[in-house]
Amino acid sequence: MDIGSVLQKGEFTREELVFLLGADATDRQLIYKRALEVKEQVVGKKVYFRGLIEFSNVCAKNCFYCGIRRGNQRVDRYYLTEQEVLDAAMYAHRERFASLVIQGGERTDRQHVRTITSLLQKIHQQTGGEMHITLSLGEQSEEVFREWYEAGAHRYLLRIEESDRELYRNLHPEDRLHDFSVRMEALDTLKRIGYQVGTGVMIGLPFQTLEHLANDLLFFKEIDIDMAGMGPYIEHEETPLWEHRDALMPREERFNLSMKMIALLRIMMPDINIAATTAMQAIDPIGREKALKVGANVIMPNLTPVQYREGYLLYDDKPCVDEEADECKNCLEARIKLAGDEIGYGEWGDSLHYKKRSES
Ligand code: SAM
Ligand code: SF4
Repeated sequence: MDIGSVLQKGEFTREELVFLLGADATDRQLIYKRALEVKEQVVGKKVYFRGLIEFSNVCAKNCFYCGIRRGNQRVDRYYLTEQEVLDAAMYAHRERFASLVIQGGERTDRQHVRTITSLLQKIHQQTGGEMHITLSLGEQSEEVFREWYEAGAHRYLLRIEESDRELYRNLHPEDRLHDFSVRMEALDTLKRIGYQVGTGVMIGLPFQTLEHLANDLLFFKEIDIDMAGMGPYIEHEETPLWEHRDALMPREERFNLSMKMIALLRIMMPDINIAATTAMQAIDPIGREKALKVGANVIMPNLTPVQYREGYLLYDDKPCVDEEADECKNCLEARIKLAGDEIGYGEWGDSLHYKKRSES
């Protein structure tokens, strides 16, 4: 295949995607170049900040890859207080971030649901409705998704983690709580309710092949997502997948593959929002900025109070564990400007794809 002519197309077959994902150091620069062109033409040079609040590491689930899984007893569990969340939200508002992400372990009990509903309402009251809020709190019933939507959540991030049912089963316990069909249905429900819906996968997982990743990209297109968050899988010692660490590709390769996934998705879905995720930075200190240069347009500065950060270690070597929100924001801002991009302060930066979808 001739990479130049394949890249001129906006739609790729599975075979073409496998070919592109396998590109060597020279060819991958061509993919990045094309992705940057598409990005700048369609979504422009603006980067949108979403202040990330890691609300709690209490989780009812036991995903085999995740450091805060229920079965890891070496984690000090925490919940932020209402005041801590509101303080973080007000900080974001003052700094003109315009958007927040509230993320945490999956819980479906009524108390948790009510706490989130009340937080959404209070954030709206205190910021005069100026913040757009993304939730990333796992699978919930349709009723709960609706309750949160009505309380003011606009976007929901629920990674499929891996769109191949078989591989999904290898990454999760086989029980009612970790059912692939339920996750798929949840994505569908979120869309029906009216959320901007984001999903994504981890890249470089044990047992994962380039064919799996090609299928993941086609899956995103098929379910017509509005936002994507993808990043390298990074091993964590206190998880079941740790035993497969010797079978993993080197971290640098996982990083490069993640860059190619972001770039290809930008070419395939030019008007969606794509996050430059924290896991990119865990491998490369300027990994998020590099992701912006190949198609990403959203970044999530961490606003979780520093004393809780050690409790939210999803994987080893998570960055910015001891950085205050201000330091984090300032260094990001400088690096983004240096890279020639502009920050969309005070702008929601909603997914253009969602806007078009909801107008049609
Ligand atoms: N509990 C919610 C959920 O699972 O959807 C949201 C929080 S969860 C910690 C957010 C994301 O972290 C997951 O979707 C997963 O992709 C990612 N994650 C977990 N463990 C990881 C690891 N070892 N390496 C990279 N990403 C990981
Ligand atoms: Fe819980 Fe999410 Fe981690 Fe799975 S990935 S164990 S649902 S926090």
